[in-house]
Amino acid sequence: MGKQDWEAEKIARARERLLQWYERNRRDLPWRRNQNPYAVWVSEIMLQQTRVAVVVERYQAFMERFPTLVSLALAPEQEVLALWSGLGYYRRARMLHKAAQFVASHHQGNLPHSAAELRLLPGIGPYTAAAIASIAHGERVAVVDGNVERVLCRLQGWKAVSRATGGASLRRKIEALAADLVCPLRPGDFNQALMELGATLCLPRNPQCLVCPVASDCKTQGEHQTAPKPRMLSREVAHALSVRTGRVAGHFNREVLLEQRPASLTVMPGLWELPQLREAQVPEEELRLTVRHAIMQINYYVRIRTVFEDDIDALTLAAGLRRWIPLGEAAGMALTGLTRKVLTRLRLLPTAPLDAIAPQAEQNAR
Ligand code: SF4
Repeated sequence: MGKQDWEAEKIARARERLLQWYERNRRDLPWRRNQNPYAVWVSEIMLQQTRVAVVVERYQAFMERFPTLVSLALAPEQEVLALWSGLGYYRRARMLHKAAQFVASHHQGNLPHSAAELRLLPGIGPYTAAAIASIAHGERVAVVDGNVERVLCRLQGWKAVSRATGGASLRRKIEALAADLVCPLRPGDFNQALMELGATLCLPRNPQCLVCPVASDCKTQGEHQTAPKPRMLSREVAHALSVRTGRVAGHFNREVLLEQRPASLTVMPGLWELPQLREAQVPEEELRLTVRHAIMQINYYVRIRTVFEDDIDALTLAAGLRRWIPLGEAAGMALTGLTRKVLTRLRLLPTAPLDAIAPQAEQNAR
């Protein structure tokens, strides 16, 4: 489909201009400093739903703790989740961990080379397989993420449509064009160049067409028509903040009451959070903080209520195991994004990386 419009000369021009532009303008990101397949894999999984600035901060700590695939495979899940804390969408960490264990036991700890073989592994989808195969092994295979989709739609003057109105057919056209365009000599660099163009110039709003290396072949030169976004739902909930002074080995410590979400839940099983209150409404004098927190298509308006230790059982829904955790320890635990956000805003934890997480689960946020 792509070749009908993109004759050889135009394809060669696009490859040359994109690669030259990428060489001059690529951001110096830690995962670009080596092309180890495991490192590419970890970075690609992190980048799928989290912004680059947050990934930079978390990627280094994760790779220091788990420098090899085998070290990741051998780690307890709670430790992997704790190192993932701040990146959100913990299912990715669980899948990465499980896939590492599978590769360690079935492939002697070595990821297969080709995209086709990589796709046979649990937890590695077509996008990640293509990224690892092209970047780490130089296979000529196209990577199509949200940024690439947008760039190619604009280059071709295609409208983005919803799944219900022909999205699958548009996706096939985009994949066919991407496969035609990918440079056979430098597929990894070319794929990264196209993604980098979408991440830095061909932005969803206000694309920088005047400095775009492929502007002369672009049929849109600006924002294209996109499918309407699904409406966000809105929910109100409230959580209890209960802090006490505990004594461990003769030292006084401030401790916070946390509850572990049951393993049977489909959303964030095993993560630690502030206990949920029975009532979403909170008396004004007890209200400590209100935050908005988006998960998938739901905007949660969350009230945090200060609760005395004696009132906890009466006011909260007891759903899982509860523990008093010294605040110094809580930062290193696998907390839910909301709990980390709340404790950070209240200055009970040191950093605030979560505010930068993209709200849309399906959006690649490079
Ligand atoms: S010219 Fe503008 S719209 Fe077209 S690809 Fe470049 S940045 Fe995107």
